[in-house]
Amino acid sequence: MKKEFVVIGLGRFGGSIVRELVRLGADVLAIDNSAERVDEYAKIATQSVIADTTDEEVIKSLGIRNFEHVIVAIGENIQASILTTLILKELGVEQITVKAHNDYHAKVLKKIGADHVVHPERDMGIRIANNIMSNNVLDYLELSDEHSIMEIRANDRIAGFSLIDLDIRAKYGINIVGIKRGETIVISPAADDKILLGDILLVIGADVDINRFVKKAM
Ligand code: ADP
Repeated sequence: MKKEFVVIGLGRFGGSIVRELVRLGADVLAIDNSAERVDEYAKIATQSVIADTTDEEVIKSLGIRNFEHVIVAIGENIQASILTTLILKELGVEQITVKAHNDYHAKVLKKIGADHVVHPERDMGIRIANNIMSNNVLDYLELSDEHSIMEIRANDRIAGFSLIDLDIRAKYGINIVGIKRGETIVISPAADDKILLGDILLVIGADVDINRFVKKAM
């Protein structure tokens, strides 16, 4: 069965989610209260509707409850974003992902039961700052406020050594959970697996510990 999603708010963020979900083969109901925005997505989304989602009756009439996942991508209008989320939650929508405009907004969204709260601008800022600071940090996935998974390129200071030689877990309190090598990926590498120059290490741990590792070992 095809996956079905609703995206509410067709700005840059919501719009790119619609395009990508469609590209991945999903059915997408795209909603915005601006006719212009809805027009723009009429040919892209499976269905597109002009609606103000802060009106409970409107949401009910669209049958949104039957979709498995709703993405609320209303940007700056925090009030509309919160109210929409609240209505979706009360209707019993299974999965609700909401874009937060700031930390206060995120706090409220979590409190009222949003399943996933995302901060695309903040996360992208963090990612780019990390890339700028270290040529070896390639990507970054935030797990909590203090923990992440980072992709780190192995340089000549650690290449040729095995995980046990480097003793990373004991020294830094972080774990290498995978090694990407060209097209292949070694999941849960063994202690005696050797790191090669140019390998990409998938490292999980506290941000401070990973940064300590990057600064010292690389
Ligand atoms: P971005 O930063 O992702 O570009 P925008 O703030 O430009 O975000 O986009 C948010 C979208 O949400 C706009 O297209 C706006 O018309 C839409 N929107 C705002 N309030 C509502 C609402 N109550 N119901 C439906 N759509 C809304």
